[in-house]
Amino acid sequence: MKLFNTLARKKEEIEPIKDNEIGMYTCGPTVYYYPHIGNMATYIREDLLKRVLEHDGLKVKHVMNFTDVGHLVSDEDVGEDKLRKEAEKEKKTMKEIAEFYGGEFLKYMSLLNNIKPNVTCKASDHIEEIIELTKKLEGNGFLYVIPDGVYFNTSKFKNYGELIPSTFEKLNANLKAGARVERPEGLKNITDFAVWRFARKGEKEMVWDSPWGRGFPGWHIECSAMSMKYLGETFDIHCGGIDHIPIHHTNEIAQSEAATGKKFVNTWVHFSFININGGKMAKSLRNIYTVQDLIDKGFDPLDFRFFVLTGHYRQGLNFTFEALENAKTTLNKIYGFIENLKNFKEEGFDKNFAEKISELKNEFFEAVNDDLNTPTAIAKMHEIIKEANKKHLSKKDAEFILNTLLDFDSVLGLNFSTHSEKKELSKEVEKLVDEREKFRKSKNFKEADRIRNTLKNEYHVIIEDSSTGLKWRFEK
Ligand code: AMP
Ligand code: ZN
Repeated sequence: MKLFNTLARKKEEIEPIKDNEIGMYTCGPTVYYYPHIGNMATYIREDLLKRVLEHDGLKVKHVMNFTDVGHLVSDEDVGEDKLRKEAEKEKKTMKEIAEFYGGEFLKYMSLLNNIKPNVTCKASDHIEEIIELTKKLEGNGFLYVIPDGVYFNTSKFKNYGELIPSTFEKLNANLKAGARVERPEGLKNITDFAVWRFARKGEKEMVWDSPWGRGFPGWHIECSAMSMKYLGETFDIHCGGIDHIPIHHTNEIAQSEAATGKKFVNTWVHFSFININGGKMAKSLRNIYTVQDLIDKGFDPLDFRFFVLTGHYRQGLNFTFEALENAKTTLNKIYGFIENLKNFKEEGFDKNFAEKISELKNEFFEAVNDDLNTPTAIAKMHEIIKEANKKHLSKKDAEFILNTLLDFDSVLGLNFSTHSEKKELSKEVEKLVDEREKFRKSKNFKEADRIRNTLKNEYHVIIEDSSTGLKWRFEK
């Protein structure tokens, strides 16, 4: 497959380092709060990438970290140690906060049908590896110590800033203008960053002894240490949101390559941001939503997944509830179409029709393999549905389409095969179930049975009265 490599500034064919195997690292969440739908959009796209590679027959080893130690989070341009602050605010330990929000994150991952990475690793479990890497950097002469901590001297790393399409000087100028980085006393270059931060007064939790003093790791070093531990010193794909290009990923490259002397990552993939109503998502604007908020508003998390997939990952996507509603309607039509495919009974098989569908299927997979072009792929899927709706289908024609769509679903992850069983009762059905229950309780069994039959024949819903109360399920 071809992917746009931020480092090469062009689309490139992915050539696995190991035969048929891809090492893929994604920067995981900082677990100090609920992830918002923008964060989750990035994880959906990473999941899509992994699924496409696997569909191509590659084995993907996917590693994702959890930042569960203190670090400065640049949100709304204010750098602060959110995990430590949240623990203070909620009167809990940092560990409790990290475990709780880490759990919520994994819950959202599963609701969105993102496959759990093969390795999920916490920074706090890898302090030893981080200290070892820091020692290497010290040995290679890249570090200096100031009162705030142990810092990486970016002027000593020849290729510093190669990930962004601008010079080192321009990066310096940008950072100065944006002033997003605190400048501790003794800092040599504005781009220098902490590899190890000394514990300040009152910072007692999540601090460790090190050869340089008690403290905790910088954010960038944890990703370098964990990715190299699980994937080797050079690996295939590293991804994250575009905000990580100028600082986090630039610094990961610098310290990994300064330590090993080898190329760190072959392909860097960066996902654009989700905006909301045309603007930024920000807590101060009260426009941040979580997956749970969408559920509370009556959406299925997969409606959001589908909405995200309708856009291309390198273009910004504007979230509105109207757009989500449209995605939901379209997705439900697709589910309805798929369910209906099971109802065709006639004999025969139209070879010409199957050929046409196969062509569209090839185009679908060409599109997803061309830098994850999901808008084109989804358009091909709609074309198949259109073609099918124009035709009088036989059982075999319908099966052929069903298998094609299920194949698409192995990369889209929209639960085409199981959705009908999982979906909630529609409002109409719910009303009927309630009505029937009322008749049953008032011993009007004739009416209760009539509704039971309607539910079975028209909605394929089976009702079972049991000693523990009423149960319902969709007919198999
Ligand atoms: P964080 O927990 O802040 O490191 O964010 C987790 C992931 O979400 C990172 O890969 C970010 O780049 C990404 N991200 C943050 N905000 C957005 C957004 N509005 N849209 C898409 N991705 C985002
Ligand atoms: Zn990272």
